[in-house]
Amino acid sequence: MGRSVNILGEEEIALVRESSLLVGRTLAEVARHIAPGASTADLDRIAEEFIRDHGAVPGFKGLYGCPSTLLISVDHEVVHGLPGERVLEDGSVASIDCGVLMNGFYGDSAYTFRIGEVKPEVRALLDVTKECLERGIAAAADGNRTGDIGHAIQSHAESKGYSVVRELVGHGVGRKLHEAPEVPNYGRRGHGVKLGNGLVIAIEPMINMGRKEVRQLDDGWTIVTEDGLPSAHFEHTVVVRPGGAEVLSTFSFIEEALNAVEHG
Ligand code: MG
Ligand code: MG
Repeated sequence: MGRSVNILGEEEIALVRESSLLVGRTLAEVARHIAPGASTADLDRIAEEFIRDHGAVPGFKGLYGCPSTLLISVDHEVVHGLPGERVLEDGSVASIDCGVLMNGFYGDSAYTFRIGEVKPEVRALLDVTKECLERGIAAAADGNRTGDIGHAIQSHAESKGYSVVRELVGHGVGRKLHEAPEVPNYGRRGHGVKLGNGLVIAIEPMINMGRKEVRQLDDGWTIVTEDGLPSAHFEHTVVVRPGGAEVLSTFSFIEEALNAVEHG
């Protein structure tokens, strides 16, 4: 059997929620600055300042040697892209993953942004990946298993002709960013680790437009699709409850910010 999972008490869950909401607010601050011509290093600096101004510390920076606050993965990059001098281009998509540590607890969330005008088929990939996340959340019910989450995500993605990355998975969240159990985005109903009320996990489908194979670039971080086709990634930190998970992070601040930019 795998490592035992860590069920959190309600006061601890409230702290994970605070950390997770700060991630949502940080990504909303990024959303106000994301546009064609923005450099990924600038977005990273904006996020780090925002997190520190709110009395927290970046969750990724320094962990496993990660040099940045955000991981920014553009187009065929799946996850773990490092911010740098690169400038975002019109028509791209960028998965931005962010963690914070506050009051001893982590929050973890990711959102894939459209940069300017994006092709309809890429928009559709983003929409379906977000739907996969919603289906995974609905399947994360007390008494279910991690395989039920993976099955819900995989069956929806594959029904649209997309594929699911196997090498990277969701995870428990708490006093550490990555705790047991692993939460794969593929699987079989009724298999895997049993989910109990109060278990906090990050669910994070990584869905490829083409084939499922990925590889790591020579920078030792960036994961890209082998076939060069786009990939999308959405992540929420959630707590397992009867009937389905309760979402602790949020996209609502991000989407308010994006709407204000579009209509402002
Ligand atoms: Mg993340
Ligand atoms: Mg994560």
